[in-house]
Order: sequence, then structure tokens, then C-alpha cells
Amino acid sequence: MSEQPIVVCSFGETRDGLPAGAEEVLHIGRGLAQTSGAPLLWVVLGPLPERAAETAGLFGVQSLHQIDDEKLKMNSSDAQVAALVAYGKAQVPKALLVHQTLEARSVAPRVAAQLGGAVVMNGISVSPIGENFEITASAYGGDTRAVYEVGPGPVLAFIPNAAIPEPTSADPVAAEPFTVDLSAVQERIEVIEPACFDGPRLDDAEIIVSGGRGLGSQDNYSLIEQLAEALGGIAGASRPLVDDGWVDSSHQVGLTGRITRPNLYVAIGISGASQHMAGCSAAKTIVAVNRDPEAAIFQHARFGIVGDALEIVPELIRAASAG
Ligand SMILES: Cc1cc2nc3c(=O)[nH]c(=O)nc-3n(C[C@H](O)[C@H](O)[C@H](O)COP(=O)(O)OP(=O)(O)OC[C@H]3O[C@@H](n4cnc5c(N)ncnc54)[C@H](O)[C@@H]3O)c2cc1C
Repeated sequence: MSEQPIVVCSFGETRDGLPAGAEEVLHIGRGLAQTSGAPLLWVVLGPLPERAAETAGLFGVQSLHQIDDEKLKMNSSDAQVAALVAYGKAQVPKALLVHQTLEARSVAPRVAAQLGGAVVMNGISVSPIGENFEITASAYGGDTRAVYEVGPGPVLAFIPNAAIPEPTSADPVAAEPFTVDLSAVQERIEVIEPACFDGPRLDDAEIIVSGGRGLGSQDNYSLIEQLAEALGGIAGASRPLVDDGWVDSSHQVGLTGRITRPNLYVAIGISGASQHMAGCSAAKTIVAVNRDPEAAIFQHARFGIVGDALEIVPELIRAASAG
């Protein structure tokens, strides 16, 4: 049994009392720890999210460490890098796993470089091969999969989109403080005001109705909003609608937008490009409306309607409002 741990690192945005994506990465970390016979540690930077101790227990974490410091409260990346490098040097992990948030894109490669390990971004799954790791990652904007073999001590950033099995119940793991001296860190980026979005989040939505370029014009996007409202869901969009300024970027579903996992995803006038599907393929049920019977979205959809969105969506709104 190796004593070098697998370490899951969480920092930045929190959601529902947990760091964003923590459960997904803990699920991957638990699998890797089990197959490599290593203990699983979880380190959280900044204030401890409410559900961290309970979640650590559910995912078989041996030790939950918290590094807290004034400098970590504003999600400043120089302090995050310094804290994780100090933690990595102390624990000498077999691998460090992070959820690929916007912050992680700039933090993970710097931590890897300072610890002398490799970094792989866009990870989907990982397995040990002797002392090394084989990691499958999304590449070329989600069009293909790349498989890498990296040596010990890498930093692996994940964009998991598989469903997590219900964890078995277990006792919470009490957080232990892990002290790192960050007094010498000179932050080079000043966060004046963290971005904040008050509306409902696509990431947590049970029902999403998304519109694509097939809507034809910005005015027609109101049909998407009406159908979303009638179904009790949230309106999303493909990237061209965001690029053209029809809706703001908080609506974008996909590889470079939000990664969603609703029960119902209704895609209207969306072709089904791989980069869009990266943000919705974990939906339980996909319904597509498209006038092209050969559109790729129909390969993913459980139910499909071939026809003009501008004729079909008003009927769906009527039916949903009546029901
Ligand atoms: C690195 C990278 C990252 C990307 N990230 C994202 C991302 O995060 N999210 C994202 O969405 N895209 C992303 N893209 C873009 C992606 O490749 C596609 O270009 C985009 O998803 C296409 O959007 P669309 O389906 O709305 O438009 P189109 O591909 O133009 O499809 C429009 C569809 O509407 C149908 N249609 C037309 N008229 C009607 C009508 N009247 N009624 C019904 N159907 C109609 C057409 O048959 C067609 O299938 C990314 C691309 C790259 C290279």
C-alpha cells in the first residue's frame, strides 16, 4: 500500500455549500485512490464550505485539510498557487486533481511547473499504469479524445460529465487546518469586485430549453424564454447566440460555456456540434427540434421533432401552458 496520497484540491467558486465540481472530482479521486492503493486527501483553500465535512465522509476522504488565509479570500491566483505548492511539497502526492474552473485554468499549470510535474487539462477519466497515469482528455474543442501517459506527481484538471453514483452514507470528516505562510506572496492581480450572477444557474437546472442559430433572429429567442418558463426551466443558448450578442454568456451551454446535467434538455434550432454537446450530453433526456432530419443533434436526442422551430415552439408553449 503506497502512502503517497491522491490529493483533490478545491478553490474558488462555491455552489450549494461545496466548491464547484467538488463531488465530480472527489468521485474520480476516490476511484484513482482505490485502484492505486493510495489514501485520498482533500485540501480546500479559503473558508470551509458548509457541506465539505459531510461530503468528505461520503467520498471516502481520509483527511480533509483547510488552508485559510486573508489572501485566499478574494480568490487571488498567486496566493492559491503558493498555498497548493506548499501543500504539494509537504504531502508529495501521487497526483493532484482539480476541477477545471476558470480559476483552475491559470492555477493548475503553475502548480505543476513549480512541483516539477506534468499538467493535463480537459481531463475526463484517469487510471494508474504502474507509477504513471493514463489520462483521457477532451481535445480540439471536444471533437476528439486524447490519451496521455504522464509520470508521477502530475496536476490533472477534469471536466467530468458522467453521472456520479449515489455515495453511500458515512461519518463526516472533521477539517484540520493546514498552515501555510503566505505573507511573502505579492499578488499581481487585484480583484476589485468578484463577478456575481444572481439569477438561477444553468449548472443546477433540472429543465433547460436552449435555442440555437436556427431561430433565425434575436427576437425569436423570446420563444425559448417562454417555453422555458412554461416548463418551469431555464433558457440556454448555443455559442453563436452569445457571440452575436443575442444573450449574455451566462446562457451559453457547451465546452466554453456551462456544463449542465438537467433531467430534460430541449434543444431548438441547434445542430448538435460536439462543443455544444459537451455541455448537455449528461442530460437524462434530450429533446430536439430541427428542420434538418440529418442534424447531428438527433443522434443524441431521445425524442426529436423535424420541422420549423417557429411553427413548433408556439405549439409546445401552448401545450406546456395548458398542462
Ligand atoms: C473551441 C470551440 C469551443 C466552442 N464552444 C462552444 C460552446 O461552448 N457552446 C456551443 O454551443 N458551441 C461552441 N462552439 C461552436 C460549435 O462548434 C458550433 O459552431 C455551435 O454550437 C453551432 O451552434 P448552432 O447549433 O446554434 O448553429 P448551427 O450549427 O448553425 O445550427 C443551426 C441548426 O438549426 C437548424 N435550423 C435552421 N433553421 C431552423 C428552423 N427554422 N427550425 C428548426 N431548425 C432550424 C439547422 O438545421 C441547424 O442544424 C465552439 C467551437 C469551438 C471551435
